[in-house]
Amino acid sequence: MVALSPLLLGLVLFQGIRIKAAPIAPVDSEHLSGVGRFWHVSDLHLDPTYHVTDVRTDVCSSSKGFPALNPGIFGDYLCDSPYQLILSAFQHMKTLAPQPEFMIWTGDSPPHVPAGKLSTDLVIQVMRNMTQTIREYFPDIRVYPALGNHDYWPQDQLPTSTNEIYQAAARLWEPWLKPEALDTLREGGFYSQLVQPKLRLVGLNTILYYSPNKVTMNMSDPAGQFQWLQNILETSAQNMEKVIVIGHVPVGYLPYVKNTTAIREVYHERLVKIFRDYCAIISGHFYGHTHRDSIMVLLDELGMPVNSMFVTPAVTPIKSFSEPYSNNPAFRMYLYDRQDYGMLDIWQYYMNLTEANEEKRADWKLEYKMTEAFRLKDIQPHSLFKLARSFEIDQSIEFQKYFQHYMVSYDDGIICDGECKLAQHVSKTTALTNFNLVAALPG
Ligand SMILES: [Zn+2]
Ligand SMILES: [Zn+2]
Repeated sequence: MVALSPLLLGLVLFQGIRIKAAPIAPVDSEHLSGVGRFWHVSDLHLDPTYHVTDVRTDVCSSSKGFPALNPGIFGDYLCDSPYQLILSAFQHMKTLAPQPEFMIWTGDSPPHVPAGKLSTDLVIQVMRNMTQTIREYFPDIRVYPALGNHDYWPQDQLPTSTNEIYQAAARLWEPWLKPEALDTLREGGFYSQLVQPKLRLVGLNTILYYSPNKVTMNMSDPAGQFQWLQNILETSAQNMEKVIVIGHVPVGYLPYVKNTTAIREVYHERLVKIFRDYCAIISGHFYGHTHRDSIMVLLDELGMPVNSMFVTPAVTPIKSFSEPYSNNPAFRMYLYDRQDYGMLDIWQYYMNLTEANEEKRADWKLEYKMTEAFRLKDIQPHSLFKLARSFEIDQSIEFQKYFQHYMVSYDDGIICDGECKLAQHVSKTTALTNFNLVAALPG
């Protein structure tokens, strides 16, 4: 792979030992007024065929003929989400206080099934169902969506100009987005919008750069998104705005295969160059797609940490038949400083799917708070870079914990070392510390 100049730092992590974090929580209830919050949900992957039956091969289309492992009302690790699981996630989010001011939703609503079982109409139906479900639970907040590689038919082939799906998305998301945002969404699947007085959100269509997208092969600037992004960031810089970047497919290295990016390298280089040029105004990057919990740190040309990048784990618990582990269903909340829009913390929530099925009760719990779990001051680039460096130690407890989170506490008996750890933590030889914990994406 091309020498991607310095870049990211993959953060790896842990397992096993439970560290008792020192009580240094920088964000505490006393001074919450200066703290803003937002939700992040991703990869809902509704499977409308899911049903519990004794015929294990019939439980869900998304298991692709393999027998479900231990199906229950909230799902199975070989299947995409039953509607019941998605409802229980939003239901639980609604009970938490204080409620965040907005939500980001980074795509992938349809199930992992063969192309012949879906169509443009079916994809739009699932997107409509998920949009309406979110609006029912959260009628009073704005939601900022990004299109995923499954939010199209056939999957991955998102086009560079207007089409039925971009148009449907613009209609469905009209309650949340302003007319200028809807215009670019309809044409190219991307948009930007002011979220708060000096905070701008940029919603990218990173599927235009995704390796399996044949439509954009050999294009230098698919849908003109690079030029558009550069213009938006330049204007934001002049207006003294801060920016949060969201998208489905993440930049950076995949956490489960060594030295491999999810987007084409030529696009990756270009995107990283733009992000470095404007790193001073970017508060953070937020992605989905891998279904696993991971973190990256973008480094500048000198190897200094300049941006934090977060990959949120999925709501769907699906894994492929041959994968040794999956992720439990998850969603998260971010905390940020209202003054300067610096990122303060992640509060990660999850459901232990096996237990929830046994008890027939949706038991969503806090999995961890990032600052407490790793004794960090905040989740800004310097703090995360320091954490990534601690992963380099053999048998690093911090890394083991990070890896446990990567799987959303799927199985704390699984240890990541050797090749597994090498894939998670991009070595310094590339200058890009990829402290990334990304996981296998099923499709
Ligand atoms: Zn995806
Ligand atoms: Zn997905």
